[in-house]
Amino acid sequence: MSGFAFELGSTDQAARTGVLRLKRGSVLTPAFMPVGTAATVKAMQPESVAKTGADIVLANTYHLMLRPGAERIAKLGGLHKFMNWPWPILTDSGGYQVMSLSSLRDITEEGVRFRSHIDGSEHFLSPERAMEIQCLLGSDIQMVLDECPAYPAAEAEIETSLALSMRWAKRSKAAFARSGGACFGIVQGGVYPRLRQRSVHELMAIGFEGYAVGGLAVGEGQSAMFDVLEATVPHLPRDHPRYLMGVGKPDDIVGAVLRGIDMFDCVLPTRSGRNGQAFSWEGALNLRNARHADDSSPIDPSCTCPACRSYSRAYLHHVVKAGEIIASMLLTWHNLQFFQDLMRALREAASHGMTAEFAAQFLKRYRGGGTDPEG
Ligand SMILES: [Zn+2]
Repeated sequence: MSGFAFELGSTDQAARTGVLRLKRGSVLTPAFMPVGTAATVKAMQPESVAKTGADIVLANTYHLMLRPGAERIAKLGGLHKFMNWPWPILTDSGGYQVMSLSSLRDITEEGVRFRSHIDGSEHFLSPERAMEIQCLLGSDIQMVLDECPAYPAAEAEIETSLALSMRWAKRSKAAFARSGGACFGIVQGGVYPRLRQRSVHELMAIGFEGYAVGGLAVGEGQSAMFDVLEATVPHLPRDHPRYLMGVGKPDDIVGAVLRGIDMFDCVLPTRSGRNGQAFSWEGALNLRNARHADDSSPIDPSCTCPACRSYSRAYLHHVVKAGEIIASMLLTWHNLQFFQDLMRALREAASHGMTAEFAAQFLKRYRGGGTDPEG
């Protein structure tokens, strides 16, 4: 198949390494995809995102269809050119944001009618339109439209929603224009193993280049999330990539890699960076905390990012407190660097059959460090 291949590398129990080969570049897995919601990874220039080691970014169909519009981006030469990111892009289908951001949504068999959170204008998203938009953007990996039920929900409710998502998955795949990219299905089914497995089998019958696990990190907690992965991932085909959507915290990622996940995306490193939070091997630091005001050491002396090479915790504390733009820029860069360094360490561990040992050491250090309280 042109434009998409997945080569499995080492396997270590459930964990594995691999390479996604896409038209615009290769992605080493396990991979973390920085989120570029509105055609920008907030506070970062694209070349800086690439310098952290990111091979691929995610962009949001919902945001881009509303502003500036998919047809406009297509006329301007596609999303890669528009946002000056020549490497691979994965787009979501818009379903999750429609359910979480828009008002007055009306879900029918045909699709979902909703009002924009920006100006209240009315829009319609069907499986066919979601794929058309992603094709107009020129996305390398396109996601099917699915319904994202709220958590918690009763089993019967999840079952009804799942059935609709599976019919939409079939329509999405039929509408997917094979422009050299890939189409991923999304496993739903809430916290119910029976429904997760049904979803896996229905998606595999349709056939996708990759399989995402959706509907997690919505408030079910880490142990329930890991239970769902243990009930789901072993049923997925070995030779296709597996993507855990919207996850997550560093310890979630480590646990999910141990359970066989290959790809992740999350706003956490970027959003936290704008809120004065920095991730480190010793846990998360809140640079607002007064204990950093006189500290001349960097966030992490082993980190190669500009924030750690050239600035002290005291300076970062100052610019965070003063609301300076450079605080968001430096802390976002550091956090994206940390997430990519974590993925590199996980790939290294998996290739040496040491994932479980790495995970145990990582968690001990990460949870035992001098983590600042949230604030
Ligand atoms: Zn750093």
